[in-house]
Amino acid sequence: MTAILMNGSELAARVRAQVAEEVRELGHVALATVLVGDDPASEVYVGYKHKDCGEVGIESIDHRLPDGASEEQVLTLVRELNVDENVDGFIVQSPVPAQISEPRVMEAIDPIKDVDGFSPVNVGRLWLGREGHISATPLGIMEMLRAYDVELEGADAVIVGRSEIVGKPMAALLLRANATVTFCHTRTRDMPERTRRADLLVAAAGRAGLITQEMVKPGATVIDVGITRTPEGLVGDVDKGVAEVAGLLTPVPGGVGPMTRAMLLTNTVRAARVRRGLLAFD
Ligand code: NAD
Repeated sequence: MTAILMNGSELAARVRAQVAEEVRELGHVALATVLVGDDPASEVYVGYKHKDCGEVGIESIDHRLPDGASEEQVLTLVRELNVDENVDGFIVQSPVPAQISEPRVMEAIDPIKDVDGFSPVNVGRLWLGREGHISATPLGIMEMLRAYDVELEGADAVIVGRSEIVGKPMAALLLRANATVTFCHTRTRDMPERTRRADLLVAAAGRAGLITQEMVKPGATVIDVGITRTPEGLVGDVDKGVAEVAGLLTPVPGGVGPMTRAMLLTNTVRAARVRRGLLAFD
């Protein structure tokens, strides 16, 4: 194996220590979560969010609505949280049950409290290069790239996947950092030809082992966002053989996942700062 593994767990611990310090300075910071229904994976993710908050001294508030909840019930709770003085930021765990329009829910969240960065206002701010909340996964990836001194200026960055929460915001951040950005997706012709040009390859398709050794330029930085549960444990989108050609590589687990979790805490502290007039979103 030639690739250096990018240690997301270690970096996330550093981020949490920094967040804990900021929480102490601010006195009190609170994050609320809204879980609609009983999707087991969502239950796990929400559980992590409360655990992480506990570690850094952020108060976490757990709101649950039944699987059959109406859109109006969810929107009512969102409006309550928007004006709740005790709450600095909140998330509505995705996916929501089919009878509820996720875009309408995202649109209803006060952009200052939208610590997932999914509301249209924050997505627009991101693409405009303005201050706002940014989706935690791409934000965490940018932190990792910075920590490992990955040169982005003029770099060829290829992103596999174009979702609203990973691929697209990743592209916005890499463009901001002056990379040349290419998207690959399910309709892309000859994907290996494109991925082989990448100095930075971000795999976010959710297809186990999609990126094989032949698709990677020797020495490239490879970020594996994918998570697929298998009987042997969690696996990413990047095949094992890639470690023999990549220069830097994120492991699964222990790479992007812990950083994503840590960045939600960072975003919550930023929301608290905006609410206290210590930071402005323009
Ligand atoms: P998504 O399903 O919304 O989007 C997947 C994207 O990949 C789509 O744009 C699709 O066009 C593309 N795609 C799918 N199959 C492809 C293929 N064979 N070739 C090329 N492109 C293909 O998924 P998402 O929400 O962006 O998540 C992607 C993966 O990342 C999932 O495995 C998810 O679990 C994981 N994820 C991990 C973290 C983390 O913290 N590590 C955070 C978010 C998502």
